[in-house]
Amino acid sequence: MPINVTRSSMPSYEEFCEEIKELWDSRWLTNMGKKHKQLQAELEEYLGTPHLTLYTNGHLALENILVAMGLEKGGEIITTPFTFASTTHAIVRCGYVPVFCDINEEDYTIDVTKIEELITDKTVAILPVHVYGNICNVEEIDRIAKKHNLKVIYDAAHAFGVTYNGVSSACFGDASMFSFHATKVFNTIEGGAVTFASDELVQILNDIKNFGIRGPEAVAYIGGNAKMNEFQAAMGICNLRHIDEEIAKRQRVVEHYRLRLNGVKGIKLCAEQGGVKANYAYFPVVFDGYKYTRDEVFDNLRSEDIIARKYFYPLTNSFECYKELPTAGEDKTPVAKHIAHRVLTLPLYADLTLEEVDKICDIILR
Ligand SMILES: *Cc1c(COP(=O)(O)O)cnc(C)c1O
Repeated sequence: MPINVTRSSMPSYEEFCEEIKELWDSRWLTNMGKKHKQLQAELEEYLGTPHLTLYTNGHLALENILVAMGLEKGGEIITTPFTFASTTHAIVRCGYVPVFCDINEEDYTIDVTKIEELITDKTVAILPVHVYGNICNVEEIDRIAKKHNLKVIYDAAHAFGVTYNGVSSACFGDASMFSFHATKVFNTIEGGAVTFASDELVQILNDIKNFGIRGPEAVAYIGGNAKMNEFQAAMGICNLRHIDEEIAKRQRVVEHYRLRLNGVKGIKLCAEQGGVKANYAYFPVVFDGYKYTRDEVFDNLRSEDIIARKYFYPLTNSFECYKELPTAGEDKTPVAKHIAHRVLTLPLYADLTLEEVDKICDIILR
């Protein structure tokens, strides 16, 4: 059996069956049923947010909040290219122009010292990414946004359950998007959410995800379909029961990796952030001046059935589909380019054994 970069957390088969049993009685499979309502309430509580809206996946959650913000069409949104395709695609698909800001060398989140020089009279929002679960410099982003009257939407897909100075990652900016994809720390098979404080956004976000339907004969908004179904919500209810235990198990794995790889010449690990309670979502390792290149390490691991991931490579600003974009080109974001060509995320999931971590580290160090 190969060791994959990740493995989905799941409840026991019996626990899930117990959870979905009543769906055979109610025959209510989707459209904001009982499970949907229960998961929403439990997540609001767990993430400490006034409001949360559930979606069938994280990407549509991001598109829906971008639309709900009602920003001026064609406006520019400042973001980073060191992210999953979804972040940049959501901006473009919603009719905005992504403007790529570089990342910082410490935690690979947006370099706040470079945001203001990118602001023009067309800028409408900042869309930073809490990449690998590392929290962005939220104070500075908040200051810049207030000064220039910009909205802030966080891509918090990696940051489920993370807190900074005791404040939940769900509470920064105007809104945050979470992904509950199978590969994330918390999953609903596929799924996602938007968290926010504004009472006014509740109605519009609920409208957009269900064709704008407010009643049997009332369609108030040009919506689409992005509803989370009852089976997804049931998986979420089960997984949420075990989330703290899963994160604690991930922490053990990460601590063992650190023990083995810390201080090795040419290997750079992400520093732990001050004031942050982490979720141990990913374990990125940068090979910079190491005896072997990132690609050689990747190939060597693969030849022993260990599947690491070049995450994030390529940068979104060097995607084929964006080559016509005036802001494209990885040379415009040199730090992101440098990291993207040298980073590997190593296998990490709750049930990865310390023996397996040793095997992975042995191969790298050999
Ligand atoms: C996973 C992910 C998304 C998209 O979430 P899905 O639930 O897969 O649609 C968006 N942004 C980032 C950074 C992600 O890792």
